[in-house]
Amino acid sequence: MTDAPSSATLTSFAQLGLPPELLATLAEVGYETPSPIQAACIPHLLAGHDLLGEAQTGTGKTAAFALPILARLDLNAAHPQALVLTPTRELALQVAEAFGKYAQRLHNFHVLPIYGGQSMVVQLRQLARGAQVIVGTPGRVMDHIERGSLKLGALTTLVLDEGDEMLRMGFIDDVEWILKHTPEDRQTALFSATMPAAIREVAHRHLRDPEEIRIRATTSTVAKIRQCFWPVRGIDKLDALTRILDAEERFDAAIVFVRTKVGTDELANKLAARGYAAAALNGDMTQGLRERVIEQLKNGALDIVIATDVAARGIDVPRVSHVINYDIPYDAEAYIHRIGRTGRAGREGVAILFVSPREHRMLKTIERATRQPIEPISLPTREDVFTLRISQFKRKIVETLASPDMDLAFFTDMIDEIAEENGLDAREIAAALAYLAQTERPLRIEEDERRPELALAPHRYDKPPREEIFTTGAPRARAPRPGRNEVLARSQTFSDSKLQRYRIEVGRDQGVTPKEIVGALANEGGIEGRFIGQIDLFDDFATVELPARLSTDLLAAIARIQVRHRPLGIQPLDESEAPPARKFRTSSPRRDEQAFAKPRVKYADSNRDTARTFPPHKGQQHGEHAPKGKSHAHSKKRWEKK
Ligand code: ADP
Ligand code: MG
Repeated sequence: MTDAPSSATLTSFAQLGLPPELLATLAEVGYETPSPIQAACIPHLLAGHDLLGEAQTGTGKTAAFALPILARLDLNAAHPQALVLTPTRELALQVAEAFGKYAQRLHNFHVLPIYGGQSMVVQLRQLARGAQVIVGTPGRVMDHIERGSLKLGALTTLVLDEGDEMLRMGFIDDVEWILKHTPEDRQTALFSATMPAAIREVAHRHLRDPEEIRIRATTSTVAKIRQCFWPVRGIDKLDALTRILDAEERFDAAIVFVRTKVGTDELANKLAARGYAAAALNGDMTQGLRERVIEQLKNGALDIVIATDVAARGIDVPRVSHVINYDIPYDAEAYIHRIGRTGRAGREGVAILFVSPREHRMLKTIERATRQPIEPISLPTREDVFTLRISQFKRKIVETLASPDMDLAFFTDMIDEIAEENGLDAREIAAALAYLAQTERPLRIEEDERRPELALAPHRYDKPPREEIFTTGAPRARAPRPGRNEVLARSQTFSDSKLQRYRIEVGRDQGVTPKEIVGALANEGGIEGRFIGQIDLFDDFATVELPARLSTDLLAAIARIQVRHRPLGIQPLDESEAPPARKFRTSSPRRDEQAFAKPRVKYADSNRDTARTFPPHKGQQHGEHAPKGKSHAHSKKRWEKK
């Protein structure tokens, strides 16, 4: 095992033994010094050794294998001499592009990306024409080997890029099949951001006495990424996202990660509707469409791309200043891959992770894996964002006027005309124009319209101390009980309000009972029992019906209330985020769907009724629905009046 030289022992590309044409190109491309993985790998690969390289995303692995391959090619021959396998088409393209870039000064060099989804006819023609380097995804490479259109008999080097991702995507068998169809005396290099046991095994089966190179997790590139998290509570994630996008300093472009393909479209549409240059990137899109999205992100036609892990893997767009983990990733590796989309090419990057209370454990896991603390942040207030937008708007106007090559004579004449024809003064006209100029992206932000009180009541969302959000079981000060007047005032609002379902982060696994929940909401939240509707317990959470018009302050206060040592972390239940049916302990899946079809505003009158709309769950008796008795009947009347 060789550890990479530290940056203290600076090496130059020339010292690594690369030929002059490549050195000249590197200087042109702007690479001053080799990155640690490059410094460690290039000499071994030039010497023809096998190699197992472990380094995080963004550490420069592509050049680490591409440069020595280019240095060793026989450019007088056109047959495939090196094959690079990548898990996705995007990566295949990107790696092929990198080869092209580094090979600018090499005559007769050809690199060919081959991947599924691209026309077979075109690929066959290109293969027939010849290329010294093939970069491909396993499936399509296998196709061509079987057809005989890709002949690997004279292959000298094979590279497996992103080994862990190959494994995750289930390509390992394909990769081994391909390995068996290449000459045994080839040079083999395997690169991976992490080194799971299965990858290590593949390496031991197919690599001959490999040099093992590992770059410690905290590389300079990753250190350039500021990592922080926002504890999700009190306000909608979408609203939080737009505030961040609006208020972040040095924002240039962002990749926002969500878990599902559907989620990418939904969020992209919502952001576009709010005036952001946003688009989705997911595996359902055609290859051409995906390439266009990445191209648009590169050239500034798009600022925000909403992507799934797989679709965004390996994307290298230097202007991406922010990675937003809108949905938390499934594991730390995915997180590392995600944040590697920013802080590219030596720039600084910011990674923001949305963490709901129940995702706290994943946050800890990620911190351990990255060996870096992730700091909590508070959201900018709506006021902050508003002020910022106004100052940007003003600045744009002043800059336009100040711009030396701006000739506004035509427009000033037009304003004079409008003023004269309509008896208006310039100030009024300017106001109308300012209004028109901001309609696409209004200065005044309308946040979630379903909950108007959120949009209307600006309030400071101060950063809660971290312990407060996540401590479990520690003693804590009780939330002060709301005063009588406050409770009365609320009753007034609540009486007019519909019920809606909220999610709270305590459930059957914690041994909670509906009675306890009612107790906590009533005693500590100051919500009278008659305004608390049906409670349903699930394994790790519960849903409770409360008036739709809960103020943000009240929501924030309720979120902090602890029941069974867990903060309630209350959230309005977004039906699109409804947990999958298997989470529920019910007998009939059909009923599950009904249960989440729509928030029920009508109060369930009898147990029979309840059972029809929301089936009782295994181990849950009818008696668990709360509240019961008089207040129950009372509340029903109030809500049905509407
Ligand atoms: P990885 O494969 O490890 O995720 P890449 O090979 O995609 O990383 O490289 C990440 C970025 O760093 C790319 O934009 C690449 O152009 C840039 N880069 C690579 N090596 C150097 C270097 N020696 N100097 C400056 N930039 C580099
Ligand atoms: Mg890479």
